[in-house]
Amino acid sequence: MLFGTHKIVNNQLTVGNVSYSEIGKKFKTPLYVYDQKLIEKCMKEYIEQFKSAMFKTKVLYASKAFSCLAMYELCNKHGLGVDVVSLGELYTALKAKTEPSKIYFHGNNKSIEGLTLAIESQIGCIVLDNEYELENIKKITKRLNKGINIMLRLNPGIDVHTHDYIQTANFTSKFGVSTYNDQKVFSLIKEIDREKLLIFKGVHCHIGSQIFAGNSFSKAAYTMLSFIKKINSETKIKVSELNLGGGFGIYYTEEDDPESTESIVQNLITNVEKYLTDNEIKIDSLVIEPGRSIVGNAGVSLYKIGAKKNTFGGKNYLFVNGGMSDNIRPALYQAKYECAVVNKMKAELEVRTIAGQCCESGDVLINNCQVAKSEIGDYLVVFSTGAYGYSMSSNYNRITKPGVVFVDDGKVKEVIKAQSLEDLIKNDILLGDNL
Ligand SMILES: *Cc1c(COP(=O)(O)O)cnc(C)c1O
Repeated sequence: MLFGTHKIVNNQLTVGNVSYSEIGKKFKTPLYVYDQKLIEKCMKEYIEQFKSAMFKTKVLYASKAFSCLAMYELCNKHGLGVDVVSLGELYTALKAKTEPSKIYFHGNNKSIEGLTLAIESQIGCIVLDNEYELENIKKITKRLNKGINIMLRLNPGIDVHTHDYIQTANFTSKFGVSTYNDQKVFSLIKEIDREKLLIFKGVHCHIGSQIFAGNSFSKAAYTMLSFIKKINSETKIKVSELNLGGGFGIYYTEEDDPESTESIVQNLITNVEKYLTDNEIKIDSLVIEPGRSIVGNAGVSLYKIGAKKNTFGGKNYLFVNGGMSDNIRPALYQAKYECAVVNKMKAELEVRTIAGQCCESGDVLINNCQVAKSEIGDYLVVFSTGAYGYSMSSNYNRITKPGVVFVDDGKVKEVIKAQSLEDLIKNDILLGDNL
């Protein structure tokens, strides 16, 4: 399926009025190519449609989906806050001049360096995962004599239909504190509230990723709201903010039938408003954290076809000059994708398996797909790799990481340079005399 500014012009696939063949010839492949207009459209949709008359709303971009200076610049431009999950993401967001108060810091084992930078720079909120982290935060705030807002990550125990690796709120998940351990939650909140330098803001949950069932989000919202009610009555401490995380599913293949952003966020708002009214409780703000649904469909991976192989066993391969090093998702959780040969958009199709160049039999990007009959040297795009593509890429086999470009209105803007061979050995140290 073609998203955003994609068009087919004389057999050629274009994005932002530039043909992929042209981009492929100008830049080193593989290359991640983003449709800047589509990223911005997704951002604007969330900002415009996630609104309520009863409480404030905030949209945070979950930057682990795809993080770089230019991405944070786009968030800043469109008024999204950002959520970060590591020292590195926090550092990058700050370097892109993201307003610190708009940064939320997540993670189940945040480093002392990360927590220190967060508190020093006075970010908007640390989302607390466990009691050990609370001890660290207490020490750092005292040492720096600086306060910080805290939200508590809860695990509302919602089973969602997605891959096990991206479920985050079942009873065995490593994230947050279970709402079933309610006494533990109350005592943590009371402890935060007692600390002079800590301000308890509210509670957070994130039930998983690539979720389609709208009722999973409603269930999470109801569970969290009824738990807020319990917190109110047990502790008398105000819960001003509810953060429901991200996880909104997107289209990868015909098997996926995502709801529109509008319908997802309006359902959420309606459900939360209704619960608040029916139960006579109040919150000041509701927060969501979409990641995948902002960048997923806007990005593609552009490869060059290097060889073909028809095996004795009957599987017919097309080899591209990348693979699991730039897209681990098929190997990690059997993720499925669609692809196209960008200079043969109207050619006859054949069945091929798109495999990478890594030394693993599992290095397959797409199994048995219909793809144009192609020639060596043609360019192929795998669609919708904008989320968790670059951000999960590695140097496996010492393959250099691809670059990233944003395409917009005929312009191709480089936002991350491809790694060079020098980059690869930059941190290596020869044993030399110690050999
Ligand atoms: C990963 C994550 C998100 C975003 O998930 P998507 O599926 O990319 O929307 C949001 N919040 C938290 C805490 C996360 O860990």
